[in-house]
Amino acid sequence: MKTLISTFFLVLISVFAQAQPTGYLWPTDASAYLSSTFGETRSAHFHSGLDIKTWGKEGYNVFASKKGQIVRIAISSQGYGRVLYMQHLDGTFTVYAHLQRFIPELQTYIDSVRLINHVFEIDLDVTSKKWTFEQGDIIGFSGSTGVGPPHLHFEIRNENEQAINALLTNLTIEDTIAPKISAVLVIPMSDTTIIEGSKFPRVYYPSKKSNGILNLGIINARGPIAIAINEFDQADDVSNRYASYEFILESDEGIHFYSKHDSFNFDEAETMFIDRIAAYGATRRSYQTLFKDENFDVPFYKQMINNGILKPTKDSVEYIIRVNDIYDNVTELQFQLLESTFENSVEMKDNPDINQWYWRNKWLTKQSLTSINLQSGNFGENWNSKKNQRLAYFSGERLLVSKLYPDRPHTLFSVDNNLKVHFNASTFFDTTSIAIYLSEKDEFQSFSIMPHSTPLRKKYFVEFYLGKNIEPDQNYQIFHFDPFKDRYTHVPGTLIGSTIHAQPEALGEFVVFPDNEAPSIGSVSLKTTDYGANFLEIDVLDELSGINFKQSEIIVNGLRGITEYDFEEDKLIYIHPNYIPNSRDRIEVLVTDNAGNSRSEVFYL
Ligand SMILES: [Zn+2]
Repeated sequence: MKTLISTFFLVLISVFAQAQPTGYLWPTDASAYLSSTFGETRSAHFHSGLDIKTWGKEGYNVFASKKGQIVRIAISSQGYGRVLYMQHLDGTFTVYAHLQRFIPELQTYIDSVRLINHVFEIDLDVTSKKWTFEQGDIIGFSGSTGVGPPHLHFEIRNENEQAINALLTNLTIEDTIAPKISAVLVIPMSDTTIIEGSKFPRVYYPSKKSNGILNLGIINARGPIAIAINEFDQADDVSNRYASYEFILESDEGIHFYSKHDSFNFDEAETMFIDRIAAYGATRRSYQTLFKDENFDVPFYKQMINNGILKPTKDSVEYIIRVNDIYDNVTELQFQLLESTFENSVEMKDNPDINQWYWRNKWLTKQSLTSINLQSGNFGENWNSKKNQRLAYFSGERLLVSKLYPDRPHTLFSVDNNLKVHFNASTFFDTTSIAIYLSEKDEFQSFSIMPHSTPLRKKYFVEFYLGKNIEPDQNYQIFHFDPFKDRYTHVPGTLIGSTIHAQPEALGEFVVFPDNEAPSIGSVSLKTTDYGANFLEIDVLDELSGINFKQSEIIVNGLRGITEYDFEEDKLIYIHPNYIPNSRDRIEVLVTDNAGNSRSEVFYL
């Protein structure tokens, strides 16, 4: 066995150290604690800021972090909610998101613009207003608008508008706790790789800890493998779990993988889909990869040997994983990798549940030792050789498998031509194989575009012919089904004739069923805030397709205002700067869902 000599680590830190901007003020008096750090995993991108804790409350002061000018104000139902963007004299930017409200000067202006067209969402360049603030001036108040519970999302962008890790500036938190590694995912990197006698990925849990180093023991494998880790960092006095800062995988051979959460361009944010993966049988991307699978660069990756892919040898080799936070609290984990031969296992019978198969973009594993190389062209029958399409029956399903290249557009059809799928060029990060098939799910028409875990850089286009016998009075909609969460999500679409057109954001299983149900409208309540604003709140709910707030409206005594929608609280909100409530106020409510079903009701206060 080789022993490990490790001197690379400190050298690396100095090589990659860069000058960072400085001179920022902590942007709120709510707390000096974080609920999230830079680089964490979000639904479709990396987290670009710090989330500062506000203890479940709203209304804390938010300060200009540096002298500068407000250059942009935006309000949205999702994402950042109410958000301010400042630019400073050194060219850097700061961003303050999820605000409850802006200071009156800014709020009055933005509401007057929103009232012109009665719109909720807005995104304004306000550079020409020359609103300048000194460091420490109050510019807004913390809230919970957009996505998430109450907190302040604070972000620093450099002069090139790249998001940078704000803890690399003069801003700091108390953190003396090292990151924790809770599990290690070992992933087969070819269709012939075997890990502990199986072609499925395998999760290892670190246990034995000697000399302060976690130990995984021996990984027995044959063929190339890669490593991903489930880890989190923590800081003093709070229980929140954060992204760590640096990730290193090394052996005597050198640094196999080194990644650091320092900065990224916003047009690189979707490389999160490469950097974070789900465990087999899950959709949550809870594992941090220590390798690069796709032919595309992730901004955090600094150094690699063979893309971080490891080859087991007959002499066991010791590897070490190091994870540290920004304050150099380090956790180390070691394991040995040994090339092992495995006895032929007993063949299991065909696994009938396609969702239990292990899909990769280049192969498919149906059971522990049966893999099909989807790019080799020696399975099933040749369907269309020009388009690299093959037809195969797997577990009784008729799958059309197509090989796709990332730099070209591709249009695919199901075998019966009822489903058309179009991908624009640059939808995929790498060459991939896509399988499509039609089926029925609970008596509803269904189609699948697999593998569901394939990362996408943009939406794609689906046209699905429902047949001549569809009921004319049914409002057919497409829903995306998550087999691991057992949950349906509506995909916006249009029925034209008997064909439904939609633009999904992810691959996977889709089911078509009617949504004829209008949203429900609950009670109306009048709210008066501690800062003296009056508004109306109305409970609305739509179980299937969800509320379409752009097609929903509240009118009070014939007066249109601004109708906002809080999708987390299922509430429509009526705002008008001149609204003074009266006991005989006539309130007309119109609510529409994403399938176009509407309900209207009239209330009196
Ligand atoms: Zn945030």
